[in-house]
Amino acid sequence: MTVRQYDRLVQEVISNVQSYLEYLKEMGISALPISEGNPARVSSPTLEEIRSELGNCQRCKLHRTRHTLVFGEGNKKAKFMIIGEGPGYEEDVQGKPFVGKAGQLLTNILQSIHLQREAVYITNIIKCRPPQNRNPEPDEIRSCYPFLFKQIHAIQPRIICALGTFAAQTLLKTDIKITSLRGKFYEFEGIKVVPTYHPAYLLRNPERKREVWEDMKQIAKYLVS
Ligand code: URA
Repeated sequence: MTVRQYDRLVQEVISNVQSYLEYLKEMGISALPISEGNPARVSSPTLEEIRSELGNCQRCKLHRTRHTLVFGEGNKKAKFMIIGEGPGYEEDVQGKPFVGKAGQLLTNILQSIHLQREAVYITNIIKCRPPQNRNPEPDEIRSCYPFLFKQIHAIQPRIICALGTFAAQTLLKTDIKITSLRGKFYEFEGIKVVPTYHPAYLLRNPERKREVWEDMKQIAKYLVS
């Protein structure tokens, strides 16, 4: 091994340890148990455990106006996970993600790449509907983020599609516009992330559908690779 290869390997190990420590922190673990022959093992909570930890969540102000907390639904072992913004009116009534008009369009988009909704796991950045469907606020995103983080670890998808500005910017920890982010591959915790336009935006701007289709085709290609 050359010195340069060795340096690269050391950098990679350091970066892996850093992300593992960040993961533990997000899981609420701030100290490592050190005992010989008994290495620390952290297993991800299951989706049921995460849902039950959320309980009748009152961690942010949205609990005052929501009807139903929309946790997420789909294949618990999905290779493809879809993350939207937050529940709208229909989702708040039914307690399921993407069941309104934007949801119907999402189902059609999935069908265009030969995927059934049931094959994927769908959730949102925030789990409760904001009044009048306003944009999620930073404190609301912060309150919900640890649960989304755990959902992603429980499912361990190969690829995530982040729908719209809030999903893309939150996962990628950036404020770059969705128009520049979309259609490219990024990483979140070692999982590929492809941002694209939100179906609600497509309902208002149907001429953008082709770009979303291109992005979805890239995702489909990755899924069979
Ligand atoms: N828009 C979203 O971002 N999520 C939903 O669940 C519904 C509409």
